[in-house]
Amino acid sequence: VTAKAGLYTPTDQIVLLSPDNIDSVIFNSSRSLLVEFYASWCGHCIAFSPTWKGLARDIKEWKPAVDLAAMDCAERRNRETCYNYNIQGYPTIKFFQAFSKRGSKGLHIRDVPHDVKTLRQGIVNLLESNVEAWPPACPPLEPASEVEIDNFFDSNNVEYLALIFETADSYVGREVTLDLLQYENIAVRRVLSSEQGLVSRMRVTDFPSCYLYYANGNYTRVTVNIEARSFYSYALQKLPRVARAGKPQGANDSHSKSTVDREWREFNRSRVYMADLESALHYSLRVEVAAYPEIRGEALSALKLYISVLAKYFPGRPVVMNLLQALDSWLTDYKEFKVSYSSIKAVLDNAGEVPNAVLPNEEKWVGCQGSQPHYRGYPCSVWTLFHLLTVQAAESTSSSDPLDVLKAMRSYVKNFFGCRECATHFESMAEDSMGEVTNRTTSVLWLWARHNQVNSRLAGALSEDPQFPKIQWPPPDMCPQCHSVTGGEHEWKQGAVLDFLRSHFAADRILRDHLE
Ligand code: FAD
Repeated sequence: VTAKAGLYTPTDQIVLLSPDNIDSVIFNSSRSLLVEFYASWCGHCIAFSPTWKGLARDIKEWKPAVDLAAMDCAERRNRETCYNYNIQGYPTIKFFQAFSKRGSKGLHIRDVPHDVKTLRQGIVNLLESNVEAWPPACPPLEPASEVEIDNFFDSNNVEYLALIFETADSYVGREVTLDLLQYENIAVRRVLSSEQGLVSRMRVTDFPSCYLYYANGNYTRVTVNIEARSFYSYALQKLPRVARAGKPQGANDSHSKSTVDREWREFNRSRVYMADLESALHYSLRVEVAAYPEIRGEALSALKLYISVLAKYFPGRPVVMNLLQALDSWLTDYKEFKVSYSSIKAVLDNAGEVPNAVLPNEEKWVGCQGSQPHYRGYPCSVWTLFHLLTVQAAESTSSSDPLDVLKAMRSYVKNFFGCRECATHFESMAEDSMGEVTNRTTSVLWLWARHNQVNSRLAGALSEDPQFPKIQWPPPDMCPQCHSVTGGEHEWKQGAVLDFLRSHFAADRILRDHLE
């Protein structure tokens, strides 16, 4: 049995347990923990692993209250630990309440459901059943009474109190409460439809529905496309002055200029800018590739493929296209096994004097500006560039390899992308699922879905610009028709997403502000 890799990786938002960390993760922790003990060879565990990963993504905001972990009992060094926790069959799920004592074996969860929704609701039930060991970061989940709400601002120093009105059997209120637990300046409470006084005073008629209640007694209804958890959580998380705790907080809606000594360019967050795309080309070709004085073999093929898809699909200004086409034909004609960067640079700088061919020689971020110099910029432009190329390729009539753009991105990232850890992650996603892509349309959706997977992994990470939180994109206010809710669960409408991407990354919609 090779259990080396297990079924989960550190990027799954799941704590990977080993004999070295298990005790410190489980015991005396301020959060509750749900642990899956599995064996990587067991088919049932393999089948269950996407659900466990999906659950981890779904409740990643709940981490300070409850976290997920996994231990591979097939791995030799883990076996004894699994015996000590009385694990006999796989997978076994155990719940450890907050502040569990050393030696506790946890609560064995039987008849584990196999869908994210039922598992998530089960977690809410488990949290609620552990009143004596309430995780300190977990807000109250029980329904609020009219009196509590009337006196709420006497003892709570937040700007917003969000009230979710719902029936007793609904989980939406508790789920939104947990989704917001890491956010400052807001509290969420559920109110039952049976709370007659408040319901009639606020004239609430829909269950569920969400209201914002203010210290002065005023209230407003939160308008959403669909009355469901994902819509409420997104709307509340992006309220002015609400921000993820522990993040340096600039003013939420105005850019804090004091910390940035660069010119700030106003931009529309729902548009693509040519300045970012040209800056991506400049940085990748003049800075990133320049780190390799000599390019050979696989790396040279990667560079050739990258330039060829740019020459074919990049909807650039004529001068830029002339330069990319000159570089493409030069590289196509280049038959040696290796090339020196200096000869590539000569073509980039147009030493051969091709008429009207220039690649701008600077980085100028517009839609990819960060609130601080170390946020966004180049990686943002790399995503934007390749999304754009997948869409341009899907619109083209070219008969070349339908996967050319994804292959170009994969090999460019693998060979040249300066963030090496990003490259490793991206390569493993490509290895996992790029094989399922068969045509240009599914290429567009594949890259969109993988980018959202990365967004989900990076939400709350140190590299996240607090002014540009990592969200599942496009959010409901950008593309209402992309979202739907079935049985209370969020679902993407892939057809609508595809239409949206086609229009968002359309050549004739790219804004040309701030170009020389
Ligand atoms: P970005 O994620 O860069 O997105 C740029 C823009 O694209 C957004 O502003 C939005 O308009 C749009 N967008 C967002 N989501 C989607 C989507 N699903 N489909 C289409 N468009 C979308 N950073 C790490 O810390 N760890 C990593 O492992 C890592 N891996 C990376 C792998 C690759 C291939 C790349 C290009 C970048 C990686 N990064 C990684 C960087 C990270 O993903 C972000 O690019 C960076 O943090 C800047 O974030 P941002 O806020 O500008 O948004």
